[in-house]
Parts: sequence; C-alpha cells; structure tokens
Amino acid sequence: MPRKLVLMVVDGMTPAAFERAIEDGKAPALSFLAAHGEYRQATSVFPSLTPVCLTSIATGAGPGVHHVPSLVWWNRQERRIVEYGSSFPALRAAGLSQSLLDTIFNMNARHLSRDAVTVYEALEDAGLVAAAVNITCYRGRHRYLPTVPGLNRAAHGPRRFFFYGLFESDRTGARFAVRSRRSGSVDAYAAAVGRWLVTRDGFDFLAYYLSGYDYASHEGGPEGAAAEQALEQVDAAIGALFEAAGGPDEFLERYAVVLLSDHGQTSVERAVRLEEPFADLADQVVVAASNRAGQVYLLPQARVDAGELARRLDGSVAVELTLRGEGDEVVARREGADVPVEELEHPDAAWRARSALANPNAGELLVSAAEGWELTDLGGRHHVGGGSHGSLAAGDSFVPLLTVGLQAELRRITDVAPAVLDHFGVREPPSMEAAAGVG
Ligand SMILES: [Zn+2]
Repeated sequence: MPRKLVLMVVDGMTPAAFERAIEDGKAPALSFLAAHGEYRQATSVFPSLTPVCLTSIATGAGPGVHHVPSLVWWNRQERRIVEYGSSFPALRAAGLSQSLLDTIFNMNARHLSRDAVTVYEALEDAGLVAAAVNITCYRGRHRYLPTVPGLNRAAHGPRRFFFYGLFESDRTGARFAVRSRRSGSVDAYAAAVGRWLVTRDGFDFLAYYLSGYDYASHEGGPEGAAAEQALEQVDAAIGALFEAAGGPDEFLERYAVVLLSDHGQTSVERAVRLEEPFADLADQVVVAASNRAGQVYLLPQARVDAGELARRLDGSVAVELTLRGEGDEVVARREGADVPVEELEHPDAAWRARSALANPNAGELLVSAAEGWELTDLGGRHHVGGGSHGSLAAGDSFVPLLTVGLQAELRRITDVAPAVLDHFGVREPPSMEAAAGVG
C-alpha cells in the first residue's frame, strides 16, 4: 500500500515568495518539506483565477473540460451573471443570495461538468477515503446538509468534508469565524480540522486548502509585508499537521505531499472598466470582468462578431491581448494585430488559451490585462496599490510546486490529480486523460 497523501494548496503564493521563505528560514515547515522533496515551477490555467484553478487542480482538467470559466461569468441558459466572490460589492451587484447559492452549491452541483471526474470521486470509487478542507471544488459521493439551522439544501462532498464551518462530516471542535479573516481565522479553522484528521489518520487523501495568503497579497501586493506575514501563518497551518503526526519526520513517514499554489500574483497600479469600450453595445453583449481577466459574451441578437469586439480594444493600455476562436483556430490580438496563439511567449499559452475557449461557459472574447492593470468588478472594486492575478502573463501564471514521496513529472496544475491517482494505483478517468487535450 502506498503512503497516504496530503495535497496542500496555498492560494496565490508566487514561486518567488515560496523560494524566499525557504531561503530566509522564516518558514520552518515549508523548509522541511523542501529539504525532503523536489521543487519546480508549474503553470496555471487561464484565466488564472481561483475557482477555475482549484477546479482544474481537483479534476485534473482544464476549463474546456470542467466548464468553470472564471470568477464572474454570463450563464447563457439562465441569462444571468454568476459571481463567485470578486468582492462583497460585486456579490451584492449580482444579487447576494443568488451569488452565495452559486458559490456554495451551484459551482459544484451545476456549473462543474458531470463529465469531469474529481480526484475525490475517483479515489472513493476505488475504495479509498478522501478528505477536503475548504477547497471550493469539493464534489464527491456523500450527501451533506449545512450545519446552519434552517438551511436544508444538500451538497455532495467526499467522505471527510469540511467547508468553512458550513458543511462538516465530523464533529471536530474546530470553530469557524469569518469576522476575523484578516487575522487568519479561516486558515486557523482549516488547521484545526487538519490537526483532527491527521491525529486520527482519518483519510487516504487530504486536500488541504489555505486561502489567507491570497487575501493578504491582494491587499498589500505580492512583495508586501502582509503577504510575508501571511506566509508565516501558512507555515504554522502546515506545522500544525506535523505536530498532529508527532513531528515532521513522523508526518513524512505516513504521508506523501504535494504542495502548490493555484496561481501567482502581480502588483496593480491602475484599474479600468472593461464595460466602457462596449457601452454602445449594451443590447448585444455582456461584459464580465474581475481582477486581471475579462470576458465579453455575444448575445443571440448581436450584430457584431468577436473580431470586431477585439478591434475595439486596440490601443487600450489596460489590455495586453485578447483571445477568440476563428473556425478551428485560436487567434490572439495584441498591439492592433492578430497573431496565432502559438506565437505568444506567455507560459503554456496555446494550451491554456484553447482550453479556456473550449469552455461552453466562456465568452466569445477573452481579455488578458496588461502589466500593472486590473479590470474593475461588478461592484466597481479593484486592488490598486496591492496585488492581483487572472492574466496569461508569467507573474500571474507560474506557481511553486513541491512533491515529497511522489514520483511524477508535473508541469501544469492539471497534472496533479492524475499523479495522485497514479500514486494510489487508481486508473485515470477519461476526463483526466483528456486534460492533455483542451476540451
Ligand atoms: Zn485572488
């Protein structure tokens, strides 16, 4: 029987931040793992935004297969915006109760394609026990009702399932407090649950998701003091698992480890509304933008095509490039000229662009913001003076990826789930084999 495995996902941690933490000795738990493992950089998906990235990690497939297109998108069937939490004002603008339903339930129950198999489903179908803590892509075979009295809509998660105190497969005594998020309370909850799970050795596979780092990096930028402090909290949350196992060596005797982030972050100096260049087309298009990525959807009655939408952004300093399909080709447009996507020097550009556009929930035109720029969300919010991500550019796209006790060549975040299944001798479902394609 292979060693059990813990997948640690640190939201928004850049390779530079991870490498610094290892070098300056401020992160003993991360340093210990690095000293015992293999480190490399990998590439995220496009857009490099958390719901898309975490779903890609958990399904081993790009957005062309799993169908979660962005942090905010236009649902063509229901003719409405889906907003997973760009900001509180954006959630309010999209309708707060609908947005919470979309984020907590619909992303997994409806938006995530039935054809994409999650790592939890694949492992549990093979008789193993999977656990998920706080990760937004959680779909499994077990039915759970919320812990909040009066809420009776069920979600389906793995055998061990913990989601921000709202779903809990087991009583652990961990307390969830969203009010003190700034001080790291969300990750403190994850750590308390993780400690409980490791103490009982209650899983074969654990997806352990820490969100606090991304929050801090948005506020103060990827090189800011808040991010540095958040990394110490990340380290403490990983150290908590070591302690529960009786020490770091004992932890690695029991578990193999894959540690990565879902996307990078870059500094933001200015923000712009992507809606503006399309203001006169309000009856023909829908614009959905957030952070450093945007999408423009053509409504059925539109009299313009994606090429015309792309040309409208010529000369926009906030937009580095756009992507659109032309027949079987994916065309990138930048600096006022169309270029084949294969000619872009961005990390893994062709596969990422193709997978993003193969998603039936994606807009006809995808927008990747220029360096230093952000596209304001539905609530008019941005992170000017801080950090952001979402684009095809290297800083948003490269992630640190560390493996301990797992032999695999991992280049993309979508390579992780198939490698986990291989580790346990479980056959990859066709949706993961398809990850080599685009959708
Ligand atoms: Zn983020």
